[in-house]
Amino acid sequence: MDDCLIVGGGVVGLSLAYELAGHGQRVRVLERGQPGQEASWAGAGILPPGHFRTATDPYEALSGLSFELHGQWAEQLRAQTGVDTGYRRSGAIYVARTPEEVDLLRGAAAHWRAREVACEDVSPARLAELEPALAVGTILAALYVPDECQLRNPWHLRALVLGCQRRGVTIETGVGVDAFELSGGRAKRVVTPLGPRPAESFCLCGGAWTHSLLARLGVEVAMRPVRGQIALLRTSPPTLSRIVNEGRRYLVPRADGRVLVGSTEEEVGFDKRTTSAGIAGLLEFAIGLAPALAHAELERGWAGLRPGTVDGLPYLGRVPTIDNAFVAAGHARAGLGLSPGTAVVMSQLIRGEPLAVPLDLFRIPRS
Ligand SMILES: Cc1cc2nc3c(=O)[nH]c(=O)nc-3n(C[C@H](O)[C@H](O)[C@H](O)COP(=O)(O)OP(=O)(O)OC[C@H]3O[C@@H](n4cnc5c(N)ncnc54)[C@H](O)[C@@H]3O)c2cc1C
Repeated sequence: MDDCLIVGGGVVGLSLAYELAGHGQRVRVLERGQPGQEASWAGAGILPPGHFRTATDPYEALSGLSFELHGQWAEQLRAQTGVDTGYRRSGAIYVARTPEEVDLLRGAAAHWRAREVACEDVSPARLAELEPALAVGTILAALYVPDECQLRNPWHLRALVLGCQRRGVTIETGVGVDAFELSGGRAKRVVTPLGPRPAESFCLCGGAWTHSLLARLGVEVAMRPVRGQIALLRTSPPTLSRIVNEGRRYLVPRADGRVLVGSTEEEVGFDKRTTSAGIAGLLEFAIGLAPALAHAELERGWAGLRPGTVDGLPYLGRVPTIDNAFVAAGHARAGLGLSPGTAVVMSQLIRGEPLAVPLDLFRIPRS
């Protein structure tokens, strides 16, 4: 029998499977589609910097731990699988083009400095030197954050799938979980169209669909899908070197000259279509910030469904009243970034070890 059965093969489920298997656990992942094809594939792969040591609350601790682990995991995955995850320290520029954004940027700078995250106020001349393609005259204030990193989501997911397989994880694709069989306050097995799958413990990592899995265990949580659209541009030669963030939108340059323009935030249910208004808004943002992008090729657009929660925090912990069922879902805009820390802490919880990060803040349910 498997030690742990994970429902959902997105970045959260695969990272947890990889980590548990690294501790000698027999792990099975059930994915109703193909692994890593939902929100995890659609994301931009931005990894904002943080330090575990200077964190002032459990969310920051999870972020800092994850940020530190990403570098280690990228090396480890490359050594184990031969796959380059695209992890690199590209650095980021944060810009403000309105007085409100200037206030927010000042707040962000104070936050980072208090936590010893490097960030530099950037004069217009320095900004033009760092990123000559930006419309410097429209920018009221800018910060340079040299440690911000990025990875290529599809590459990272491919590496995780191979890394899991190398560690003996069984990944069943096209197998959705319909229900749970319980007995004596414990989950015994999950019910799938291919038959039951028993395990010692279970973890629900179903992204935006986790609320319906929890509902089948009698637990109601307020989760909702938040659609994010992205437009992919291709430039030659490359237009930008660093990630450029403005508010909740960004330009992410890849080493091959592509630029991801993201992202919308829309509550439209489980609808993954791109829309003309969504893509047009992103293009207007991109061209306003870096006018040369008006000449870039529009390669494609896509959308994914972020797992949103009411307070923006993920659900991490034990399912109430069921001793051996756990949940790790609801990472909203930050699931790629938070995935290795989530995997380490959830693996500690499932294996009954002391936790690197206390999970009370992330308990289920909460209002
Ligand atoms: C446009 C966009 C940009 C983003 N940019 C970033 C970014 O730059 N940095 C960052 O950190 N995060 C980013 N995110 C957020 C990040 O992508 C998500 O937080 C993360 O992917 C969530 O991972 P997950 O594994 O929980 O969910 P998912 O990737 O959605 O995976 C859940 C999986 O569970 C499966 N599943 C569901 N129900 C069942 C069932 N009953 N049986 C079997 N399988 C089931 C699904 O098929 C799916 O494969 C972005 C998201 C979007 C949409």
